[in-house]
Amino acid sequence: MDPLDIISNSEKIIPYFQPIFSADEHRIIGYEVLGRIILEEGTVESLGPFFTGNDIPDEYKIEVDEIVTRRALDRFVLSEGEGLIFINRNARLLMVDHGESFLQMIQEYQEKGLQLSRVVLELSENSFNGDFEQLVHVLLYYKTYGIKVAIDNVGGNIGELDRLSKFSPDILKVDLSQLRNDAGNKIYKDILFSLSMLARKIGASLLFENIEINYQLQFAWLNGGRYYQGYYLKPPASDFLPSELLKDKLREKCQDFIRYEKKHLEAGYQFAEELHKKINGMISQLKKPAEDFDQLLHKLAVTFTDQCFRLYMCDENGFQVTSNILKEDGDWKVHQQFKGKNWSWRPYFLENIIRMRINKKGLLSDIYSDIDSGEPIRTYSYPLGNGLYLFMDLSYEFLFEEDSLLY
Ligand code: CA
Repeated sequence: MDPLDIISNSEKIIPYFQPIFSADEHRIIGYEVLGRIILEEGTVESLGPFFTGNDIPDEYKIEVDEIVTRRALDRFVLSEGEGLIFINRNARLLMVDHGESFLQMIQEYQEKGLQLSRVVLELSENSFNGDFEQLVHVLLYYKTYGIKVAIDNVGGNIGELDRLSKFSPDILKVDLSQLRNDAGNKIYKDILFSLSMLARKIGASLLFENIEINYQLQFAWLNGGRYYQGYYLKPPASDFLPSELLKDKLREKCQDFIRYEKKHLEAGYQFAEELHKKINGMISQLKKPAEDFDQLLHKLAVTFTDQCFRLYMCDENGFQVTSNILKEDGDWKVHQQFKGKNWSWRPYFLENIIRMRINKKGLLSDIYSDIDSGEPIRTYSYPLGNGLYLFMDLSYEFLFEEDSLLY
């Protein structure tokens, strides 16, 4: 639709509302406001392309933004419902007047009964190249009024993560559409995982949007999503909905996810338990514990030849006290050059050592990529006593066959 037609038919512009659901109560906790226009035939068209179009003058966008927001807030104030209202703003357009007109408009509605703590500014800042410090300043100023800040369309590259934490956002909105067609996209999933860690560290909540299939919802649940949004739940509509509309459905879904995840976790623990018993039996049969460590590893390697491809032992500080025993083309080979290396710098290493020492039990790691082969593997570690720890890297082939040990 021609931008001029939109401006000259501004009475046809209406707000649509897409509900956002909470993971903890399975209720609608708010709505994102989206711009729509009613065409002559009576059909409703999205104003998305208008707002993202590069050739559309800023004044037009600002004007239409204000019309959509005002009409949405009129409805929101009248509805007397609970929850939040998410208002989209492009960082560059917001900063044209240093964020003043936005705040003025919101304050106008405060006089009509809007609580500012229910307003979420949903900021798209991906393409913002203005004064970053000024933008941060404006957001912090808004926050003194109780307005919440969500960052739209977070993608998770490192430069962006650094910038994101400076906004001290209340909410990070993450688009899950990539997972729809490519559920096996491991890199994307790893990025989202680090994003969930960052959100936790900076005290922001994750909102996963564009959830269109069950798998995306399950992924959102598993990766710390506090809020969900998407067509799989509800499409945008012209009206507000009863907040408990999907409570039963979401509760049921959540229970499915829990059941599945518990099965996966239990399989890991069971497998660790079996390894523990077997290794325990082998060790206690040895006449004296001071047997040559490489020989002991070799015995273990032969026993667990179907499960693992690499074994070594470390002391409590992470210094390797044996060679690496590595399976190459089906044969076990000894690599002495690893003796004396230190592994204490690896993530979770010392924490796991302490856990093993205190619990006197072995541990199965999460799934991670082997630094040499790049294949997903898991490591089983086991406290041998006398301050020594065994590490067994389980092969991808084995994990793949076991299925429940691998996603
Ligand atoms: Ca948005």
